[in-house]
Amino acid sequence: MLAKCANPTCSTPLVYLREGKIFMVESPQPKFEVLSDVAKPKPLNRVEHFWLCGPCSNEMTVTYDRQRGVEIIRKPVGKAPMARRAAAS
Ligand SMILES: [Zn+2]
Repeated sequence: MLAKCANPTCSTPLVYLREGKIFMVESPQPKFEVLSDVAKPKPLNRVEHFWLCGPCSNEMTVTYDRQRGVEIIRKPVGKAPMARRAAAS
């Protein structure tokens, strides 16, 4: 299931789990919830796993959008006020 980096433009194969980062994305599926109410009391959310290799996990993150589904996006930058200080040293 996790054969390679989740970044479509990266082809790094998944060899060591300690490298990079594993993302767990819950994608709710209303249809299944309704059906499962009969047999199971808990909602059935599908959890998908994604892996980004080291370099990719530094720049990218995995997110779930209800309309667009799972997306690999660039991490938002400029959020950390410490970044300028760290870069200067
Ligand atoms: Zn990668």
